[in-house]
Amino acid sequence: MKTLRLIFWDQLSLSISSLKDIGPHDTILMCELRDEVTRIKHHPKKIALWFAAMRHFAQELKNQDINVHYVEFTDSFNTHSLTQEVRRAVHSLSIKKIIVTEPGEYHFQKTIKSWEKSLDVDLEIRIDNRFLCEIDEFKKWAYLKKELRMEYFYRNMRKKYNILMEPNGQPTGGLWNYDKENRKPPSSDIMPVQRISHKKSDILKNVLTLVRHNFDHHFGDLDPFYYAITRDQAMMELDHFIDRLLPCFGDYQDAMVKGNAYLYHSLLSSYINIGLLLPLEVCQKAELAYRKGKVSLNSAEGFIRQILGWREFIRGIYWLKMPEYGELNALEAKHPLPNFYWGEKTHMSCMEEAISHTKVHAYSHHIQRLMVTGNFALLAGLDVKEVQEWYLAVYSDAYEWVEMPNTLGMSLFGDGGIVASKPYAASGQYIKKMSNFCKQCYYDVKNMTGPKACPFNALYWNFLQHHRESFAKNPRLSFMYATWDKFETSKKEAITARASNIFKEMEEGNL
Ligand SMILES: Cc1cc2nc3c(=O)[nH]c(=O)nc-3n(C[C@H](O)[C@H](O)[C@H](O)COP(=O)(O)OP(=O)(O)OC[C@H]3O[C@@H](n4cnc5c(N)ncnc54)[C@H](O)[C@@H]3O)c2cc1C
Ligand code: SF4
Repeated sequence: MKTLRLIFWDQLSLSISSLKDIGPHDTILMCELRDEVTRIKHHPKKIALWFAAMRHFAQELKNQDINVHYVEFTDSFNTHSLTQEVRRAVHSLSIKKIIVTEPGEYHFQKTIKSWEKSLDVDLEIRIDNRFLCEIDEFKKWAYLKKELRMEYFYRNMRKKYNILMEPNGQPTGGLWNYDKENRKPPSSDIMPVQRISHKKSDILKNVLTLVRHNFDHHFGDLDPFYYAITRDQAMMELDHFIDRLLPCFGDYQDAMVKGNAYLYHSLLSSYINIGLLLPLEVCQKAELAYRKGKVSLNSAEGFIRQILGWREFIRGIYWLKMPEYGELNALEAKHPLPNFYWGEKTHMSCMEEAISHTKVHAYSHHIQRLMVTGNFALLAGLDVKEVQEWYLAVYSDAYEWVEMPNTLGMSLFGDGGIVASKPYAASGQYIKKMSNFCKQCYYDVKNMTGPKACPFNALYWNFLQHHRESFAKNPRLSFMYATWDKFETSKKEAITARASNIFKEMEEGNL
């Protein structure tokens, strides 16, 4: 039977299920589609990463004598719609069957399922074998549980893959989690580590020209472009991370430093998410580095937990809860997203720093996403859909399955506590402790009231008061409510007035 096998832009792994048992009469379809890069206006670096990595991957397949039907962005017949391109290929190649690996986003799954009828073909949707926990396996784990907590899920995954486990069934080092050792504030020990760069292939040069001409109105800088775009290059990034950065990853995982976007973070999410690296091989390399005595246990475990634990847990939540999940807005957050998220001037040094990293690199590290841009959005009650769209557009690693539970659930508490047991709300004190941003800020982090007081401070208390009914009984927040209750009435009034002013300044574009 003539079979069409689809490879999406985030499925660039030779070992992916849709390529298993491929025969000489099968054809692979890969397309560069305007619809997919403009439905959300993605960062130019992300579009370049997609197109260049896809073109290299197609080349690799062709080198193995596999038939590839590749539709380039500028091909005159390109309809720029996924379904139309599949229809075109089905007709022109007399296709009877389509094989595809399950996509990463809910709306694609719906589209794909409709093809069996609308295109009159047999359709086989295969499990995405790159993930370490299948969707049904997660559903079984979650079944009848009152609360879904990453920590318990993660322990199961450690046992399942025998990662950082001892022969007696105990976790290596005796503990499952070394997070307490991973919260060091920035110090003078932090030295910027040179990141590797890759020689630009002709494919990449062409793609950069194409992206420059077509997407320069999207938020973000295309140049300089230094992302890996092939598996070999991504493996170099992985080795560089393990050798040079993982040793300090744990200690400074939560630290933020002005002018240093990456610190000791891996920058591997973009490559793992598009398939150039496999999550299991990444975890195994980190474990090996620990076993060889090259990195400490807190670093290796902290890193592995992000991938084996958080990444798989987040994906499990997405497929468990969609499509209803995408409509949640538990805290009824609806303030419009201020323009400074799109690069306009703000006096808040921490926001300016995180957003400028985002613009330049299509990247900011987890704590900047969670405790700066995310924390502000939570405290200011920014519209959850607008915030999610921002995160989806601006980061090179962003796909709905991973962005949505992180943004809506972890950061905005918009799912009412499915992902997080309490909101990640913090005043300026947290940012002061974990960064050096406050030193050069227009605002004063020590003050809660007055025109130059750090906006995070008054917004923090305002947020807690506004949602008192939801959170006062949460044991992890009750202490903060007790603290507020002890404030003098005049202090409470001044904080509330400062919060109102902040909202006004935000609307006027003066924050
Ligand atoms: C509001 C918000 C939005 C986010 N959106 C995305 C997103 O769209 N895509 C994305 O891949 N990650 C997202 N994350 C998670 C995390 O911030 C990024 O994975 C991480 O910053 C990527 O940088 P890195 O590769 O240097 O990660 P490192 O800090 O080096 O961590 C190692 C790896 O662990 C994985 N990881 C770590 N934390 C998470 C997490 N919470 N969820 C899933 N995987 C995780 C990633 O694969 C990452 O490469 C988001 C987090 C927040 C708070
Ligand atoms: S003072 Fe407030 S706004 Fe300024 S950098 Fe510190 S936390 Fe951010």
